[in-house]
Amino acid sequence: MPNIKCTVTECTYNSNVMCDAPMIQVNRSGAENSKTSEETQCDTFKPKA
Ligand code: SF4
Repeated sequence: MPNIKCTVTECTYNSNVMCDAPMIQVNRSGAENSKTSEETQCDTFKPKA
């Protein structure tokens, strides 16, 4: 997996502001046709226990 920087440090897969998951899935966040990065989101996010 290429290096993926992620600031969501409350995610289980986050390690030193990098993503450690073997794969991630990114979806549109509501909009039918995303125009900005704010309209996308990581579906693999899992809150830390
Ligand atoms: S799974 Fe998604 S939210 Fe979690 S660290 Fe990776 S990129 Fe960030």
